[in-house]
Amino acid sequence: MTVQASVDCSAMTGNEHIELVEKYAAHNYHPLPVVVKSAKGVWVEDVDGKKYMDMLAAYSAVNFGHGNEELLDVARAQLDKVTLTSRAFHNDQLGPLCTELAELCGMEMVLPMNTGAEAVETAIKTARRWGYKVKGVPEGKAKIICCSENFHGRTTTIVSFSTDESCREGFGPFTPGFEIVPYGDIDALRGAIDENTVAFLVEPIQGEAGIIVPPAGYLEQVRQLCTERKVLFIADEIQSGLGRCGTTFCIEHEGVRPDIFTLGKALGGGIMPISAVVSSREILGVFTPGSHGSTFGGNPLACAIARKVVEILKTGKYQDHAKQLGQYLFDKLSGLTGDKVELVRGRGLWFGIQVAASAGPARKYCEMLRDEGMLCKDTHAQVMRLAPPLTISKDEVDWAFDRLQKVLA
Ligand SMILES: *Cc1c(COP(=O)(O)O)cnc(C)c1O
Repeated sequence: MTVQASVDCSAMTGNEHIELVEKYAAHNYHPLPVVVKSAKGVWVEDVDGKKYMDMLAAYSAVNFGHGNEELLDVARAQLDKVTLTSRAFHNDQLGPLCTELAELCGMEMVLPMNTGAEAVETAIKTARRWGYKVKGVPEGKAKIICCSENFHGRTTTIVSFSTDESCREGFGPFTPGFEIVPYGDIDALRGAIDENTVAFLVEPIQGEAGIIVPPAGYLEQVRQLCTERKVLFIADEIQSGLGRCGTTFCIEHEGVRPDIFTLGKALGGGIMPISAVVSSREILGVFTPGSHGSTFGGNPLACAIARKVVEILKTGKYQDHAKQLGQYLFDKLSGLTGDKVELVRGRGLWFGIQVAASAGPARKYCEMLRDEGMLCKDTHAQVMRLAPPLTISKDEVDWAFDRLQKVLA
């Protein structure tokens, strides 16, 4: 076998790139056939020179826009200083990030990891250990309650409590210790809690399920119930948090605070993967040296960028923008309901457009929009998800709406 030193991609077309991916990359995604080579703000450009508006923002990891200069400046400066120390030594970005992020969350301690799934795994370990050490649950008996149609990541343990068979098929045996209740159903949660229940893990809005907003008052009732029964309320704000919903955290819409936040995606400014578990001293205090870790977790490059993300969020600028433009777009989108669009739901700049089954799958409309110069992604067959970078302007929102109207009206 002859091995080329590297692929010369300077003159390759989009189709040639896609062929390479088809042949050499595992087929664990079904992407729209667009090959991006550069991006700025809400716009991306493909290898064939065509421009598209990005209405997905990497599942909200790019909340602050592609090529955000403030974030890039911090990243560039940190690249020249130090990028990785491991936690075997301290670095001068970790302490400041933990302090600033804890304060942003109104919490006391932070455990940094890299991906969202790792943050969720860490939250599960936290809750279990808290259950044994603080709540007094008998060893090996801890139960965590999750919701139907949840999405919390892709590890073996996390898919153990997924209700989406396509995430699970062929990956067993699964991790025990989880129970599923219907999302938005407070009575079902009340009925499922027993003396060994350590946590309730929930998305304040279910993202991958199709931007499912729970009934008003649900999260407030969850808060009350969890406090009464001494169960940790874990809010997975990996996708809903950090500005997306028009507030720093989606859960603020009901004026409550969880016991544990899991954060990720936008925390790394679309530049570095960084995630975190944020909680109280009582809860995160269960970790002792050697009990958990990550080689890249808390690395100074990611921490420096995340510090800037926290600083940007502290101004409230993007939250306000998402709230205002979100309402503006929501009102316009609501006018699209008719033969093809059954329902539009969402909060802030995050929308699910429910496409009628009779109008065909949502992917068909995502492909039509791609031809119109706009990128968005279907989820769960009948839902189109819109989540533009929060830097989008009113003119750009109007531009996007015109395309949506053309395709969906
Ligand atoms: C994306 C997501 C995750 C997983 O994050 P990864 O970085 O892909 O591992 C977990 N929870 C929620 C709510 C998410 O949207």
